[in-house]
Amino acid sequence: MALSNHTIIAGGGIIGLCCAYYLHKDKHEVTVIDRTGITDNCSFGNMGYFSPSHFMPLAQPGIITEGLLHLFNSKSPFYIKPRLNKELLQWAWQFKRNARGKTALQNAVYLNNILQLSRGLINEVRKDIGDHFKMQEKGCFMLCRTNSGLRHEEELMPMAEQFGLQVEKLSRHKVQEMEEHVETNVIGAIWFKDDCHIHPGMFMNALKKYLQDIGVHFILHEEVTGFEKNGNSVSAVITQNQKLVADHFVIAAGSWLPQVASLLQTHILLQPGKGYSHTYDDVEKNILYPAILVEGRCAITPWQQMLRIGGTMEFSGLNHEILMRRMQGIYQNIKMYYPGLQIQMPEQENVWCGLRPVSPDGLPYIDKLPGYENVIMAGGHAMLGVSQCTGTGLLVSQMLQNKPTEIDMHPFRLNRF
Ligand SMILES: Cc1cc2nc3c(=O)[nH]c(=O)nc-3n(C[C@H](O)[C@H](O)[C@H](O)COP(=O)(O)OP(=O)(O)OC[C@H]3O[C@@H](n4cnc5c(N)ncnc54)[C@H](O)[C@@H]3O)c2cc1C
Repeated sequence: MALSNHTIIAGGGIIGLCCAYYLHKDKHEVTVIDRTGITDNCSFGNMGYFSPSHFMPLAQPGIITEGLLHLFNSKSPFYIKPRLNKELLQWAWQFKRNARGKTALQNAVYLNNILQLSRGLINEVRKDIGDHFKMQEKGCFMLCRTNSGLRHEEELMPMAEQFGLQVEKLSRHKVQEMEEHVETNVIGAIWFKDDCHIHPGMFMNALKKYLQDIGVHFILHEEVTGFEKNGNSVSAVITQNQKLVADHFVIAAGSWLPQVASLLQTHILLQPGKGYSHTYDDVEKNILYPAILVEGRCAITPWQQMLRIGGTMEFSGLNHEILMRRMQGIYQNIKMYYPGLQIQMPEQENVWCGLRPVSPDGLPYIDKLPGYENVIMAGGHAMLGVSQCTGTGLLVSQMLQNKPTEIDMHPFRLNRF
């Protein structure tokens, strides 16, 4: 029997759980279905940045050349496995179109809107669910080892300031002074002060527990395999074990969005972008600030004595195969920027990987499914799923009830390609 205002969410990553949080707040009866136990998906092992600073989408000028330069380097941070695949070719064509200067700048404005909305909301969520995920509000460094890298980052400063962000250029000495425990080897940095970082795995566990405690229902280890339709709406989802009736449906299936959308005859352009990370549990002399290593295109995040290193964007399809050469590339870059950091290259069994759901323009899909008045798609947040999770949750709950939305949703429509 359908409960009034019962919403089913397919997918329990950070996007699905944040949708559950806001829908429950808005008096919906909520059920989350995930084909796993929600103990490890892309939302767990990432770097944990809540980054309004990352307003430039992945599809930006220069990225194609960089990708081509790295194509045959197995340690490179950016890689597309060459293969003849219609979906990949369509995606790459749209990616190239969106990497043009004017389009990328326009997309940066849209991305900034949802990033800033989300950054504001995470403080409220923390108050609600409790401070269980090591959130720290100390900004993020963009560390540079070359003049061209530093110049590129500096060029973004006026735009950041126009968006209302606080930014400061730091000399090599200032960086070293702030990173007092570990020797660094950089020529300078740009410090984006509004960013914060969380421990994403702890956030996922805390949010899931909070949702369970307030009555959100979880159906785990069941996969959504179909939908039952009734005219221009969906009436039920089908899993391998049961049929579940509801009033509204949210599809938040991460890198599996195209597969789930195809069950409703909807075509989504999206590629899984694999990234790696490794976490050190106890670093005696640790860094104090999270940082992007600009030329190395990888990242580092400290949580007191814990430390995570990670990166790479590998387009090799839907698989969790670990290529240790890529992890080696990350490790070597970290050692180059922080020669004083006492960490060892991790063993393969301790390397994590996750699949970022990457849309061709780097903007998410948050929209009602064409032809269905009660189904919303929420995904495709690429490298910024953490940074956009709270905003996405709120926007989905507003759209689902046909309320005015906090920001313009037109850039996130499904049929933009
Ligand atoms: C190395 C790395 C570093 C990153 N760092 C950051 C960062 O610092 N900041 C940031 O903002 N972002 C970062 N990201 C990106 C971020 O992790 C992702 O954008 C985000 O996790 C995507 O969340 P999601 O909920 O859409 O997908 P997921 O977390 O993948 O969740 C999707 C869920 O859907 C479920 N599912 C799929 N199909 C079905 C089905 N048919 N039925 C039922 N369930 C289904 C899956 O089991 C999964 O649990 C990083 C990513 C990587 C890889």
